[in-house]
Amino acid sequence: MTTEPDIAIIGAGAAGIGAARRLAGRGLTVVMIEAMPRTGGRAWTQTTSVGQFDLGCGWLHSAERNPWVEIAESAGIAIDRRRSAWGEQFGQLGFSPAEQEEAGEAFDRWNEALAADPPSSDRASDRLDPDSPWNTYIGALSGFINGDEPQRLSARDYSAYDQASSDNNWRMPSGYGTLITSSLPSNTSVRLDAPLQSIDLSGKRVALETTVGRLQPRAAIVTVSTNVLAGDSIVWPSALDPWRDAARRLPLGSNEKLFLEISGNSPFEAETHLIGNPRDAETGSYYIRPFGLPVIECYLGGAGARAAASMGMEAAFARAIEQIVSLFGSSVRANLRPLVASDWAHAPTIGGAYSHALPGEAHARSVLAQSFDQRLFFAGEATHRTDFSTAHGAYQSGVRAAEEALEALGMPSA
Ligand SMILES: Cc1cc2nc3c(=O)[nH]c(=O)nc-3n(C[C@H](O)[C@H](O)[C@H](O)COP(=O)(O)OP(=O)(O)OC[C@H]3O[C@@H](n4cnc5c(N)ncnc54)[C@H](O)[C@@H]3O)c2cc1C
Repeated sequence: MTTEPDIAIIGAGAAGIGAARRLAGRGLTVVMIEAMPRTGGRAWTQTTSVGQFDLGCGWLHSAERNPWVEIAESAGIAIDRRRSAWGEQFGQLGFSPAEQEEAGEAFDRWNEALAADPPSSDRASDRLDPDSPWNTYIGALSGFINGDEPQRLSARDYSAYDQASSDNNWRMPSGYGTLITSSLPSNTSVRLDAPLQSIDLSGKRVALETTVGRLQPRAAIVTVSTNVLAGDSIVWPSALDPWRDAARRLPLGSNEKLFLEISGNSPFEAETHLIGNPRDAETGSYYIRPFGLPVIECYLGGAGARAAASMGMEAAFARAIEQIVSLFGSSVRANLRPLVASDWAHAPTIGGAYSHALPGEAHARSVLAQSFDQRLFFAGEATHRTDFSTAHGAYQSGVRAAEEALEALGMPSA
């Protein structure tokens, strides 16, 4: 591997892979360095004895304009275009149709108010109706969507995503993580298990110190998460303080997935869904037998995911099983066993789920996306102004940063 490439890409997640794809075939030497022993970052499909499951991104959001759809199609990867079952409550268990309607309307009203009449505080909770009995439910949905509660969300940032996204959410039986990792151009020079330790910008080239040696590219594309950028695992030069400050205003929220294996005869119907307890801020959202596989995917967000991270995944599994038992009856307990779970909160090179802007801080995304001195370029989901928190936003940000780097090296995009 050359130690003086034209461009170094730091991080092999969706953004880094998007950048590598954009740079491929331009006659440049490109080196990608990744701290983990695998590529994909928050895109991670795990293979188990009963199927493949995404511990990170799973849904092709805004699918009609999602660039990963075309990439999957050209690779011959099957896409499931069925409507997701999120909106339904299997058997109306624990949540009557009238309550579902009321709660859904309360959530829609909150979304509409945020877009039409954003609060001057820019705090999304300031558009909750204080008399509504559904604010805990809205908080739980906010946890699933944003990884945090409305009290810590910028109304403007939330609405920017909401207005730009569509209801088309598709999936791939082989996994989103599988698609993303298999899309890295095969001739990319990748160094795994090679965490960047420090960046030095005092010379003409960018000096990158890694645990496996020094790299001195002409330009570098940084794709690490906002929590990593704001944290102290990498020594950053003080010239990058404005970027690190922006990253602090765009923290990662909390989301985790727990997969429970189903055995024997059970009442769990394929491709159905229910929310565990719409009156519990820490509730799980349960997707039952996705693609007909013998699992229940429990999705946790905000308070629920924070609780799981602090109690540990074994206790979180026990809690999810209790919630399912409370709805389906104690006979299903024998049908359920822990299969696999994420632990993004404790993944040292990620540090959480996906970014949201704190109240008043939506502009931090544009600050974060700026380049430094025409030789350091920033990508990653958090840099996208509308498609943040997604794998397609990450991909697009990588493409954007690669185009900026090409331009800076005097090779404008074809
Ligand atoms: C539970 C969960 C569910 C999700 N569901 C969806 C979904 O359904 N649909 C969707 O579109 N999105 C979803 N997302 C979000 C999506 O996964 C992310 O937005 C996207 O994958 C982020 O890509 P990225 O390249 O910006 O960052 P990352 O994937 O974090 O990539 C950055 C890379 O940098 C590496 N790195 C960090 N420090 C260093 C260092 N010092 N040196 C070298 N490398 C380093 C990291 O290890 C990582 O691989 C979900 C995320 C989670 C956690």
